[in-house]
Amino acid sequence: MLFANIDILDENLDYQKAQFVGVEGDAITYVGAQEPADVARFGERYDGSGKLLMSAFYNTHAHTPMTLLRGYAENQPLQQWLNETVWPFEGKMEGEKGHHYWGCMLSQAEMLRYGMVSYTDMYFVTDERCRATMEAGMKANHCDSATMCFVETDYDTLPVAELNKKLFAEYHNAGDGRVKVDMCVHGEYTTPQGMIERCVAEAKAHGAGLHVHMSETKAEHEECKERHNGMTPAQWFDSLGVFDVPTNAAHCTYVEPDDIALMASKGVSASLNPASNMKLASGFAPVQAMIDAGVNCTLGTDGMASNNTHNILQSAYLLACLQKGYALDPAIIAPKEVLQMLTVNGARAQGREDCGVLAVGKKADLVVFDIDTPWMCPVYDMPTNLIYSANGADVVLTMCDGAVLYKDGEYATIDIEKTKHEVVRCVGEVLEALQEG
Ligand SMILES: [Zn+2]
Repeated sequence: MLFANIDILDENLDYQKAQFVGVEGDAITYVGAQEPADVARFGERYDGSGKLLMSAFYNTHAHTPMTLLRGYAENQPLQQWLNETVWPFEGKMEGEKGHHYWGCMLSQAEMLRYGMVSYTDMYFVTDERCRATMEAGMKANHCDSATMCFVETDYDTLPVAELNKKLFAEYHNAGDGRVKVDMCVHGEYTTPQGMIERCVAEAKAHGAGLHVHMSETKAEHEECKERHNGMTPAQWFDSLGVFDVPTNAAHCTYVEPDDIALMASKGVSASLNPASNMKLASGFAPVQAMIDAGVNCTLGTDGMASNNTHNILQSAYLLACLQKGYALDPAIIAPKEVLQMLTVNGARAQGREDCGVLAVGKKADLVVFDIDTPWMCPVYDMPTNLIYSANGADVVLTMCDGAVLYKDGEYATIDIEKTKHEVVRCVGEVLEALQEG
């Protein structure tokens, strides 16, 4: 495809008007102000007038099948939310009935609609989610939460041991590297020491990453210190070798200055989830301190029971505003820094070094915004307009590895009507099972 006469955010996220961007196969092969010679090699020509082209977005914390719980668990304190509402619902979800597959598929449709090509996902029935990702043509780092066992358990006796073997054999780096399999350490409070150490060993053995929840709530953070001689979750994880493999740490709400230094030195990525943190009243992560220390900061939507939208631009807006308000400092968190979180930093957190940048030689993970709207006029600074004025639904095209997966209301790989129908069917089955007790 040749994007012609289109405004772009270039490899430095600088705004350039009326550019030409050529895509061949899965890669960007031309960027310039002049129309390239031999345009036939790019195939379809896309008229870019009134449009903005930039890197697509990378969502670094999701629980995709939780779209089944969107709007189901509201206005509850965290422990009640988990124990009385979320976990009982999840306990009735059945992989064989397609509950996880269709929940994941709906999440994928929503993410594509909002400009995401890739997501880092933690949940159960991971083979079905990997299958959904392959079918949708998206990218994902999937891990299976069944290592969450609360009391010390022999990993090899759990069904997840067999499942992970299958996942690593069938799906790790499948689809030209689009799908990756990670190991899951759900959290310090849900995963005992021996299991954490085993997950680290499995990740090392398969060249995989680790996806963890870390210091999400004050209670989790403080109780960890009580359990482990004053060690914070970050220090506890590090002592068990977690940070010796690429780690994606979700939330990081209560990380302390020493934790931040540790994360920076070990290359731990922080996935910030401001919408979830506000809805569950978890708190404010020290984002500017992490950026200043050199931590790779990224954005996640979290599960749909605590957000309740995959509209990641809304999370970006929230993050920027909340951080300023909380710090009483309007000069922190520049719009460009937030765009880096959404793009190149997110890709890096997923081990996708060739993604997240609009530049020749990079993978063609691209998104087109309609900027011919009242709310995008005038333009003093395009990153500012994107973070504070644009809507996620202004996305009109989402391309992953050179393939157009969403364009003008149409999905190339997802039957959206069937997906919505199946999700409603799945929800009905779970609610019925809950009533039966
Ligand atoms: Zn989470």
